[in-house]
Amino acid sequence: MVGLGANWTWICHICGDVRPDKFISVRVRDMSEKGHEFRPGVISMNVRYCNDRDRCIEESKTLSFLKENNDRPFKDSF
Ligand SMILES: [Zn+2]
Repeated sequence: MVGLGANWTWICHICGDVRPDKFISVRVRDMSEKGHEFRPGVISMNVRYCNDRDRCIEESKTLSFLKENNDRPFKDSF
Protein backbone atom coordinates (compact mmCIF):
# COMPACT_ATOMS: atom_id res chain seq x y z
CA MET A 1 0.00 0.00 0.00
CA VAL A 2 1.39 3.35 -0.98
CA GLY A 3 0.04 6.40 0.77
CA LEU A 4 1.03 10.03 0.82
CA GLY A 5 3.17 9.56 3.90
CA ALA A 6 4.88 6.41 2.71
CA ASN A 7 8.14 8.10 1.84
CA TRP A 8 8.31 10.52 4.72
CA THR A 9 11.40 10.44 6.83
CA TRP A 10 12.10 11.99 10.20
CA ILE A 11 15.21 12.69 12.22
CA CYS A 12 15.27 10.83 15.51
CA HIS A 13 15.88 13.28 18.34
CA ILE A 14 17.83 10.67 20.27
CA CYS A 15 20.31 9.09 17.86
CA GLY A 16 20.08 11.67 15.08
CA ASP A 17 19.46 9.12 12.35
CA VAL A 18 17.01 9.78 9.56
CA ARG A 19 14.39 7.04 9.70
CA PRO A 20 11.33 6.11 7.65
CA ASP A 21 8.04 7.27 9.08
CA LYS A 22 7.04 3.82 10.28
CA PHE A 23 10.08 3.54 12.53
CA ILE A 24 9.55 6.91 14.16
CA SER A 25 7.16 7.49 17.01
CA VAL A 26 6.34 10.76 18.72
CA ARG A 27 6.14 11.24 22.45
CA VAL A 28 4.47 14.40 23.67
CA ARG A 29 6.04 15.59 26.87
CA ASP A 30 4.54 18.16 29.16
CA MET A 31 7.46 20.32 30.16
CA SER A 32 5.48 22.21 32.75
CA GLU A 33 5.78 19.29 35.12
CA LYS A 34 9.52 19.99 35.43
CA GLY A 35 9.57 23.73 35.28
CA HIS A 36 7.25 24.57 38.19
CA GLU A 37 7.09 28.06 36.72
CA PHE A 38 4.33 27.05 34.38
CA ARG A 39 0.96 25.49 34.89
CA PRO A 40 0.55 21.93 33.63
CA GLY A 41 -0.18 21.84 29.91
CA VAL A 42 1.30 25.24 29.17
CA ILE A 43 4.49 23.96 27.62
CA SER A 44 4.77 20.71 25.75
CA MET A 45 7.16 19.34 23.21
CA ASN A 46 7.25 16.52 20.75
CA VAL A 47 10.10 14.05 21.00
CA ARG A 48 10.65 11.91 17.94
CA TYR A 49 12.35 8.59 18.54
CA CYS A 50 13.01 5.28 16.82
CA ASN A 51 10.33 2.86 17.94
CA ASP A 52 12.51 -0.10 17.01
CA ARG A 53 15.55 0.86 19.05
CA ASP A 54 15.50 0.26 22.79
CA ARG A 55 17.97 3.05 23.51
CA CYS A 56 15.90 5.64 21.67
CA ILE A 57 12.71 4.52 23.39
CA GLU A 58 14.32 4.72 26.82
CA GLU A 59 16.03 8.06 26.26
CA SER A 60 12.92 9.62 24.80
CA LYS A 61 11.40 9.30 28.27
CA THR A 62 14.08 11.42 29.89
CA LEU A 63 15.25 13.67 27.07
CA SER A 64 14.98 17.33 27.87
CA PHE A 65 15.70 20.06 25.38
CA LEU A 66 15.77 22.54 28.22
CA LYS A 67 18.73 20.75 29.72
CA GLU A 68 20.70 20.94 26.49
CA ASN A 69 19.83 24.58 26.05
CA ASN A 70 22.02 26.23 28.61
CA ASP A 71 20.89 29.75 27.94
CA ARG A 72 17.23 28.75 27.71
CA PRO A 73 16.41 31.25 24.95
CA PHE A 74 12.65 30.78 25.30
CA LYS A 75 12.77 32.63 28.60
CA ASP A 76 14.15 35.74 26.96
CA SER A 77 10.77 36.54 25.53
CA PHE A 78 9.34 37.17 28.95
ZN1 LIG B 1 16.86 6.88 17.21
